[in-house]
Amino acid sequence: MGKRDYYEVLGIPKTASAEEIKKAYRRLAKEYHPDMAKGDKKVAEERFKELSEAYEVLADEGKRKIYDTYGHDGLKQQVWGGQDFDWSRFTHAGDIRDLFGDELFQSFFGRSPFGGSLFEDLLGGRGGRRRSPRRGQDLQVEVDVPLEGLVHGIREEIRVPRSAPCDACGGTGARGGKLVTCPQCNGQGQVSRSQSRGFSQFISITTCPKCQGRGRYPEAACPTCRGAGRIQTTSTLHVEIPAGAPDGLQLRVPGKGDAGDPGAPPGDLYVVVRTREHPRFRREGRDLLLDWPISFPRAALGGEVEVPTLDGSARVRIPPGTQTRTVFRLRGKGLPDLETGRRGDELVHVTVVTPERLDGEARKLLDRLDTLVGDPRPPESRPPSRDR
Ligand SMILES: [Zn+2]
Ligand SMILES: [Zn+2]
Repeated sequence: MGKRDYYEVLGIPKTASAEEIKKAYRRLAKEYHPDMAKGDKKVAEERFKELSEAYEVLADEGKRKIYDTYGHDGLKQQVWGGQDFDWSRFTHAGDIRDLFGDELFQSFFGRSPFGGSLFEDLLGGRGGRRRSPRRGQDLQVEVDVPLEGLVHGIREEIRVPRSAPCDACGGTGARGGKLVTCPQCNGQGQVSRSQSRGFSQFISITTCPKCQGRGRYPEAACPTCRGAGRIQTTSTLHVEIPAGAPDGLQLRVPGKGDAGDPGAPPGDLYVVVRTREHPRFRREGRDLLLDWPISFPRAALGGEVEVPTLDGSARVRIPPGTQTRTVFRLRGKGLPDLETGRRGDELVHVTVVTPERLDGEARKLLDRLDTLVGDPRPPESRPPSRDR
């Protein structure tokens, strides 16, 4: 079977620039990635390999020159030591990762369509960008807590969009959760290499490139999460909001952030407490503010009024001659302190309400009062300054 011309494979002219070559590869690779291609997977895999081979050669000036001058045979002799192209010779794993992201990249190696050599080489070889498994992201959600709940503390239900470990594979990314012991490091996660430098010989111990230090790896990718070991979901969680939690308090829920890479720990969840707006009370730290209307006779004559509190209600003594904006303090009717549990106060701001509609009797009485009381004296005006 004759090999196709590389330019033809990538659908570009012989004069194509480096940029055009890269573009053509990226476009076609997307079309033929075995996990994305429609139709026959075997055909797609063949085609993907062919594309990658063409790209490997044409993206490299030296190899391209040899190919342009001597063709396929020249390459085989001068570049690949008499062998055919295989995945271990592919140096652009970074492009594949950029192109498809980690998840498809992983599903790609997890399926190991190329008999394992791609898996080895992309992860540990010259072209592969190696990285250790990453811990999951920390997440933050806000929870609106009613004032009533802050008196004694409350258990709140929250819904958190997050990535969670895939149930189908137990977060391993492996089909059926089946991991095989890494043959390269015998499951140790580390390999030693001897290197000679000058006259000395070094033994260096490094993270095993094949399993990335995990000691085991998936035999095949989990079909549910495509090898990522996690899925996007919305988790319903319950958090205990402590009594007196101040606005903006952050509660840490360990391990309930995003799931990490297989083998890495999840992130944490931070729940930020917000005080829900109340139809009556305003919160000021541990104190509660309440605006409360009282009648004109009550303000003038004094007496008791009943006001709401977070615990029910309480009576406030109004002394005779109370003015609007007078504040009455109900001790211990506020919110508890987070630390000491000691409760703040409820501050009742009274407003004297002027009657708007008066019937005969009330009107007569007020008329009478008017003549008896007269107008209040205005505050004393200051004498004009003599300095200027
Ligand atoms: Zn290993
Ligand atoms: Zn899975």
